[in-house]
Amino acid sequence: MSDAPLVLRSTRVSTPEGTRAATVAVDDGRITDVLPYEAYDRYASAPPDSARLADLGDDVLLPGLVDTHVHVNDPGRTEWEGFYTATRAAAAGGITTLLDMPLNSLPPTTDVANLRVKQDVARGKAHIDTGFWGGAIPGNAGELRALHAAGVYGFKCFLSPSGVDEFPQLDPDGLETALTEIAAFDGLLIVHAEDPDQLAAAPQRTGGRYADFLASRPRDAETDAITRLVDLAAKLDARVHILHLSAADALPLIASAQREGVRVTAETCPHFLTLTAEEVPDGATEFKCCPPIRERENQDALWQGLADGTISCVVSDHSPCTVDLKTPDFSSAWGGISSLQLGLPAVWTEARRRGHSLDDVARWMSAGPAALAGLGTKGAIAPGRDADFAVLAPEETFTVDAAELHHRNQVTAYAGRTLHGVVRSSWLRGLQITDHGQLLRKTGRLIERTTP
Ligand SMILES: [Zn+2]
Repeated sequence: MSDAPLVLRSTRVSTPEGTRAATVAVDDGRITDVLPYEAYDRYASAPPDSARLADLGDDVLLPGLVDTHVHVNDPGRTEWEGFYTATRAAAAGGITTLLDMPLNSLPPTTDVANLRVKQDVARGKAHIDTGFWGGAIPGNAGELRALHAAGVYGFKCFLSPSGVDEFPQLDPDGLETALTEIAAFDGLLIVHAEDPDQLAAAPQRTGGRYADFLASRPRDAETDAITRLVDLAAKLDARVHILHLSAADALPLIASAQREGVRVTAETCPHFLTLTAEEVPDGATEFKCCPPIRERENQDALWQGLADGTISCVVSDHSPCTVDLKTPDFSSAWGGISSLQLGLPAVWTEARRRGHSLDDVARWMSAGPAALAGLGTKGAIAPGRDADFAVLAPEETFTVDAAELHHRNQVTAYAGRTLHGVVRSSWLRGLQITDHGQLLRKTGRLIERTTP
């Protein structure tokens, strides 16, 4: 029966044209039609053997979320996170596709042989569709074209130290070399943009005070790096994407570059949109990430950047570690926030408070990331797309209990928060994969870039 045609209906289906009551027809893992709500009424009274009807009532049918920024760390640092646990947490949170970052695993994804190692490890562990970014590091420009041909979605680089020795940052010459090579095959460079000189010049204090940590990663470090990157992208007519934008000060220059036709996009993350520097307790390094969570007025400006379209994606930057690495000293604790399972309710909780709709959230967390990576069959409830869904009860609330999270190390900056939006189920290519956070089946595939 599992391969029989399926129809899902809800009084609230989020489509690219807005939310409406609709019936979604699925066959062979793809959406074949989005029909009026009443279209299959006859099935409700007497479902034919050849079709299954999933009546979702008033729960919202969203396109499955696409998270293009996940550090899975497998192999090599599997005790931090692995493909089995990361994709399990993602599925429980309504994410049906993730792209893995090229660093924190050993080996890093910096040549084709390393990509194959990572794919071999991920195969059989993926609860959701899983693809890979490549990495651009000093000396590997000659590997990038082959990695592109092997199916990575683009290349990540750092402009300041990454935190791990095996993934060094690019200096200005190295950045130009890598971007020139990537532009030659019209690939995509995704960039951790903090300027190393600005970071070196900032006051560095050890200890547990969040204010000291925030002062060590100033906004100017982001704006300077982004300014340089945008100039280079314009000069080379190259495609660049700014990862985890925290400093809203950079928004005017990004918006102006976009208006002038520079091919630059930007993402931000749930923690920048929902947590503020003012509320981080001293010593609470579960809130540490780089760039850092900034002040409330900065957060307001990031929401404005989403509202006006300058920022097109909200993705997790899930970057976990073992509990012991989250020491109470902000200067030495591992930087990274784990939020795969919580990103949707966290963002929705704040979005609704600010008057945004779930269609906005779907655009930022599904359509936007899918477009960034060229995932043409993901990101929307529309005919021809994969039948990937998240079913959400947006009015229901829950309080975050770290012990109920599915990622490997149950550290979270959201512990104890009450959030709006309970993920009832996730569906991947027409099969229900979770039910109230419990995994039903593991049908994820390894995916590769297929567009030119
Ligand atoms: Zn990251």
